[in-house]
Amino acid sequence: MTAPPPATAVAPAADLPLVRLGHADGAELEALLADLRRIARAGTFTLGEPVEAFQEEFAAYCGATHAIGVSSGTDALALALRALHVGPGDEVILPANSFIATAEAVSAVGAAPRLVDVDPDTHLITAAHVAAALGPKVRCVIPVHLHGSTVDLDPILELTRAEGVAVVEDACQAHGAWYRGRRVGTLGDLGCFSFYPTKNLGGWGDGGAVVTDDGALADRVRMLRSHGERERHHHELVGTTARLDAMQAAVLRVKLRGLDAANDERRALAAALRAPLEQAEVSLPARPFPEADHVYHLFVVRSRARDALRLHLQGAGIATAVHYPKPIHLTEAYAHLGMGAGALPVCEELARRQCTIPLFPGMTPDEVRRVADAVVEAFAAEARLLAGR
Ligand SMILES: *Cc1c(COP(=O)(O)O)cnc(C)c1O
Repeated sequence: MTAPPPATAVAPAADLPLVRLGHADGAELEALLADLRRIARAGTFTLGEPVEAFQEEFAAYCGATHAIGVSSGTDALALALRALHVGPGDEVILPANSFIATAEAVSAVGAAPRLVDVDPDTHLITAAHVAAALGPKVRCVIPVHLHGSTVDLDPILELTRAEGVAVVEDACQAHGAWYRGRRVGTLGDLGCFSFYPTKNLGGWGDGGAVVTDDGALADRVRMLRSHGERERHHHELVGTTARLDAMQAAVLRVKLRGLDAANDERRALAAALRAPLEQAEVSLPARPFPEADHVYHLFVVRSRARDALRLHLQGAGIATAVHYPKPIHLTEAYAHLGMGAGALPVCEELARRQCTIPLFPGMTPDEVRRVADAVVEAFAAEARLLAGR
């Protein structure tokens, strides 16, 4: 492995990115542009027919009775919590290694995040973590299907039902993933999705959805996203502006048709990366147990020599990232929780060791080989790294 470049060196731009968002499919692009032209001519930019149609199709896809299109994944989570009347004085359990948005949604409704640790192998929250954090103020648990890997929900649901605690699934990284024959997002009281462009189902901007089988909860989310209205200018609740745009809905309708194929491609790419990487001194993503799933929103490896590995890949023109460099309790934003370093050791250790390497639909076999070769080389070149696994 080459020595790290001096601090002043300008890093070469990675020609193999973490994700490729440009439209390779010309026919799909033309179909999308035709839809947008239709919406522009009709002038129905908020809610309306495209949103209604997308909601129906997304609910059917998930196997949920209701889907409500909203403005982002963060808003989906906050509206789900509000629909459950979670607010000031309440606590919500969530894993500290999630994207900060999961905690922000809890803060947005005035409740307190109760951050917990995760399993060191799966990086997911388990029933044992939930059980240890339950208390009189806990009203809700948010299991996060992180990186596209499904949380073992049944033991958590058994526990929360017995305690009268609600479950809101954060499925923002796991669109279409299965758990015991059902799609994630439909197992808790409500399920929340983001359609941020890089997600497994991504739009051309921000968007999100809440799915649920509960008609009363669906009704509340639907009203809260649009000023507490059931009918225009008839405000029954103090709501907000958090609607899904018609243009995003039109884009998402087209992309939803390709979601299962895209997830299959992600699973196949993951398998192609795994085989050569079994030789390298990195820990690979835990394989899901038979009734669970992984849709590889991100392919995250772990290594004690993480930073050297990243430098080596950077030198080879391959982008990497760390999702996320700090667990939520160690961010400046959540310093007020007063949980210092050492409070959640597994999340802290994962933050030091994990590294996201490229995996995205459209990645070519050559690109997979290039990534795998570069990772293997990074460790072969430097015995020091082998010793430091
Ligand atoms: C992306 C994401 C969110 C937030 O979604 P936005 O649409 O960006 O607001 C929440 N939770 C997780 C786990 C995410 O990955």
